[in-house]
Amino acid sequence: MPVCRACKEEVDELHTAKVDGRRKRVCEDCLELIEEQAEIAAMSEDAIRDMMGYKGKW
Ligand SMILES: [Zn+2]
Repeated sequence: MPVCRACKEEVDELHTAKVDGRRKRVCEDCLELIEEQAEIAAMSEDAIRDMMGYKGKW
């Protein structure tokens, strides 16, 4: 049985998640979590950029 790299659980199927540009084999639950966190991180980055007036510098 494949083992999820994030929660160490044995699962039927592994999915590939991108974490910090690296690919990680994780279960479906962890994949969802990782994608959610990546989205939140991207959103807060945008928010910080807006706050600091960095628009157009990236
Ligand atoms: Zn998992």
